[in-house]
Amino acid sequence: MKNYNITLLRGDGIGPEIVNEAVKVLDKTADKFGFKVTYTDALLGGCAIDATGVPLPQETIDKCLASDSVLLGAVGGPKWDSQPGSNRPEAGLLGIRGALGLFANLRPAVIFEPLRDASPLRKDIIGDAMDIMIVRELTGGIYFGERGRTDDDGVPAAYDTEKYNVNEIERIGRVAFDMAMKRNKKLTSVDKANVLESSRLWRETMIRLSAEYPEVTLEHLYVDNCAMQLVRNPKQFDVIVTSNIFGDILSDEASMISGSIGMLASASLNSTKLGMYEPIHGSAPDIAGQGIANPLATILSVAMMLRYSLDEPEAADAIEAAAAEVLKTTRTPDIYTEGMKKVSTTEMGDAVCALI
Ligand code: NAD
Repeated sequence: MKNYNITLLRGDGIGPEIVNEAVKVLDKTADKFGFKVTYTDALLGGCAIDATGVPLPQETIDKCLASDSVLLGAVGGPKWDSQPGSNRPEAGLLGIRGALGLFANLRPAVIFEPLRDASPLRKDIIGDAMDIMIVRELTGGIYFGERGRTDDDGVPAAYDTEKYNVNEIERIGRVAFDMAMKRNKKLTSVDKANVLESSRLWRETMIRLSAEYPEVTLEHLYVDNCAMQLVRNPKQFDVIVTSNIFGDILSDEASMISGSIGMLASASLNSTKLGMYEPIHGSAPDIAGQGIANPLATILSVAMMLRYSLDEPEAADAIEAAAAEVLKTTRTPDIYTEGMKKVSTTEMGDAVCALI
C-alpha cells in the first residue's frame, strides 16, 4: 500500500482547527482509495516564535524537505505584531516558500453553484459557474529584484527592479501550459508588454513555448485589461499565467469574485513534486478558538495536494464533489443562509467525510 508522508504546519489562530478537519477528510479518503498517510508536525509562524524564538526553525525546513507534501493552516496574529519585520510570522511564510523553492503558485477561483449569491457580481455576469486557475510566478520579479534608496539631485528617491530571465519564465510557462492541457486548453498570459521590457521577454517566451503545446490556445492580455475583464466577463478565462506582482493582485481580485474567503484553496509547487498547500485566507484571530471557522478551503487544499503532489486524482475528485454537495444543505456561519443547517468547524469536517 502506498504511504505518503505529510508535514503539517498547523500555525496560528484558526490554523490548528481547520487543519484537524482537513486531516480527518484526508484519512477518510485514504481509507476509501487504498493508501496510507503518515503525519509529522512542525512549527511555523507565531507558534514557532513562542517555542523557539524564530518563525521558521531549521527543523521545520528539514521536515518539509523530507516529506511528500506540506499542509499549512495559517500564520500570524496580533500577539506577534510587535515583532521586527524579519521575525514576524509572515517572514516564516516567505522563508519556507524560498527554502522549498516554491516558484509556482496555483490559485483556483471557483464559484460553487450553491454559493452563487455570495458573489458581488451579478448572476448574468458569473453565469452558472466560474472556474479560473491563476498560475502566479512566486520567487522572481520585482518582489525579489534589486531595490534601494537613492536621491535625484537631493530629492529622496527609491527604486524596485522587475527582472526575469528566460529560464524563470519558461518554467512557470510550462506549469501553466501543462495545467491548460488538463483543463479547457485555453491559456491567457498577462503582462504589460506595451511598456515593460521584462514583459516583452515574458511574451516572447510564452509565444515560443506555445509551439510545444499546439492544442492550447494562447492569448495575451495587458494587466490593466485583465483586471477589467475579470469583473466584466470572468467566464472567458480558463488558465491565467502571470508574474509575481501582477499575480498577487489579480489572484486577490479573482478570489473576491467568488465572495467567500473561507472556500478558496491554493498550492505552491517546486520543480519536484513537493508542494505546499494552504487556504488563501489568514489565521482569522477574531474567530480563533470558537469552533466556527470554515474548514472547506483547507479541505479543498488537500484535494489539490492529492491531485498535484500525490497523483491521486480520483481521491481529489471525491473531496471536491463532497465539498460541492455539502454546501447544498450545510454551512458554517461565514457562508450561512436561511434554510441551511448551521454547523461548527468539526461538524463541517464530519459532513464532508460522510459524503466521501
Ligand atoms: P484573515 O483572512 O485571517 O481574516 C479576514 C476575515 O475573514 C476575518 O473576519 C475572518 O474571521 C474571516 N475568515 C478568514 N478565514 C475564515 C474561515 N476559514 N472561516 C470563517 N471566516 C474566515 O485576514 P486578516 O484578518 O487580514 O489577517 C489575520 C492574520 O492572518 C494576520 O496576522 C495576517 O498577517 C495573517 N495572514 C496569514 C496568511 C497565511 O498564513 N497565508 C494569509 C493572510 C493573512
